[in-house]
Amino acid sequence: MRPAPDQEGSWLLVRGRVVTPEGVLSPGWIRITGRRIDAIGPGLPPAGQDPGLDVVDLPGQWLLPGFVDIHVHGGGGTSFTEGTGDDARNAAEFHRRHGSTTLLASLVTAPLSGLEAQAALLAGLADEGVIAGLHLEGPFLSPARRGAQDARHMLAPDPAVFDRLQAAARGHLRILTLAPELPGAIRMVQAAARAGVTVAIGHTDATAEVTSAAIDAGATHATHLFNGMRPPHHREPGAAGALLDRGEVTCEVIADGVHLHDMTIRLAARAAGPGRLVLITDATAAAGMPDGSYRLGSMRVDVAGGVARLAAEPGQAGDTGDAVRAGAIAGSTATMAGVVRHALAAGLPVTEVATAASTTPARVLGIDDRTGALRPGLAADLVVCDADFRLHAVMRQGRWLTGPPGAEVFSPPDGPSR
Ligand SMILES: [Zn+2]
Repeated sequence: MRPAPDQEGSWLLVRGRVVTPEGVLSPGWIRITGRRIDAIGPGLPPAGQDPGLDVVDLPGQWLLPGFVDIHVHGGGGTSFTEGTGDDARNAAEFHRRHGSTTLLASLVTAPLSGLEAQAALLAGLADEGVIAGLHLEGPFLSPARRGAQDARHMLAPDPAVFDRLQAAARGHLRILTLAPELPGAIRMVQAAARAGVTVAIGHTDATAEVTSAAIDAGATHATHLFNGMRPPHHREPGAAGALLDRGEVTCEVIADGVHLHDMTIRLAARAAGPGRLVLITDATAAAGMPDGSYRLGSMRVDVAGGVARLAAEPGQAGDTGDAVRAGAIAGSTATMAGVVRHALAAGLPVTEVATAASTTPARVLGIDDRTGALRPGLAADLVVCDADFRLHAVMRQGRWLTGPPGAEVFSPPDGPSR
């Protein structure tokens, strides 16, 4: 009997353009049994397939691995940075329906007690598998490159503070973003790396030299490369230069058409080479919502024309007397489906985009043996896009979250290989 669309079942997806780590199978087919990809091949599936399989015909449609977004604060009107467990669930559900079958929840700088409470709340969702863990974007950041974050609560790196937050998160912290020029940063990099947490460089005014020292100490990731960093200069390439220069560093880019020029995206992709670029959304609660006012941690964000910027709020001048920088870009309203489509429009090849949206971020999380590519044995996490890369359907662990795609699911009496 055919499973209901939202049940896991046995599916045979045929005649799509299947983006695998080895290249595009056009056409190709994917067989899914339960929660896993069971087989993949070029052309049409060989005769003799199990007649119990439900065949979905996807002529000319793109099949990509489900996206892995490792930097996202919220979406669909709610966020991970504040609010209840249901708010966080809603944000995760919003992004799953837009193609992110795996998500980290990213927190921003906040008072320590608030961060502990939110980490504890999100740990419950990580236990349930709603999110894959937490990304701590703060509080060890540089006020000079704070972007949309609240400088009043930024701290010098302190392994004891990190331990408190990791304890609150019950071990679910996966990525820690820090500014390597702060006092104690190198010791913090070493301690976090020893604890198995990926150390990312971001919201930093560091020189190339200081950044290189942090990479030597164990930092392996760049938080939204170019954004929240000292701009590169030809005699002082800054953090961005040092991060791109080192082969062991994976580099996030926000390919939303707002945060980076398309040329910058292409240059970063070429400089990083295959397997080092990571597409992220950096989305806030405003993703998927109409223009208006939203929150990012303690900050108010106004969205106009889909661009989120810090609002001026008189009560939020920092302790140092500097006013909140109204007008700074404050996170995004992007979805992974949107940044993937934008990266393709900017000229990146589809196989590189799939690697950057899924395979490499899965490797950063250490879960590339479970998800992040269309490969037999991995979770049946995938998205279906039309010929213009508009998202049509999402499957997570063998269940369609949206779709199945196309007008109907059908089981031709003679099987698909007539
Ligand atoms: Zn962020």
